[in-house]
Amino acid sequence: MEKSIFKPFLTVVVLMVLATLALAFTVDVKLEDAPGVVTVLPDQLDNWVGNELRFCHNKKCYENTPAQGQYYIRDLEFPDICPDCGEQLYSMSWAEYDALPKDTEFVKSAYTNAAGERMFTSIVLSGRERNSIHRPERCLVGQGNTIMDEYVHEVPMPGRKPLKVMVAVLERPYNLPDGKTKTYYSYYAYWFVGQDRETPSHYARMFWLGWDRVVRSVAHRWAYIAVSSKREAEGRDYEKGLDDFVQKLYPAILVKDSPLKASPSP
Ligand SMILES: [Zn+2]
Repeated sequence: MEKSIFKPFLTVVVLMVLATLALAFTVDVKLEDAPGVVTVLPDQLDNWVGNELRFCHNKKCYENTPAQGQYYIRDLEFPDICPDCGEQLYSMSWAEYDALPKDTEFVKSAYTNAAGERMFTSIVLSGRERNSIHRPERCLVGQGNTIMDEYVHEVPMPGRKPLKVMVAVLERPYNLPDGKTKTYYSYYAYWFVGQDRETPSHYARMFWLGWDRVVRSVAHRWAYIAVSSKREAEGRDYEKGLDDFVQKLYPAILVKDSPLKASPSP
């Protein structure tokens, strides 16, 4: 019975979305170049100390170094020179560089606090092409993770509504030197930010991308922000550390006059 009531509405909604997306790819719009966040991760966020990552694109360094050509900037004598081969270092790995449009901006850092917790953080800012940001779950599974659970978590934000982030609860097997297998328990939290919009949903971002192109004649340079760390095998105790970190990170990377600082998007 319920199905027959909702079916016509659902059809209309689906048609509207399809029409919006169809228009989005045919209507000529000016690209609003100003992004909603900066692609700079601060050296320090209160009690969290950052260490940015750099990547060597020389395949020999990828194959022959334990960290696969990945270096922490605080360990480097010269911030942009590979200590192993002397070539230039980049802010993204060669695989990411190959896969992404060249105007994509990318920054990654690992933050640690006095308790020894470590937060891996990244900002990907899309360029003029639309395919800079993929559905994150695809990459997580590609890296050998199993997604045990996924849910929207609200991070309390002083002075405004909570920030909704998508949390993927992960586990991944890894081998010890003695041949035994252990499990690495982690989580991966992410959200997307346009100029005046934020959403934890990849599909909502796709919708706003189409909607804003048609209705407001603007196209955002969407940013994709991710924070990940390890967790206990059971429970959600990690949310405390996640909240603390995101409360400090997010206001620091929003552009100066961002409307998202005080009031969230609809
Ligand atoms: Zn190198």
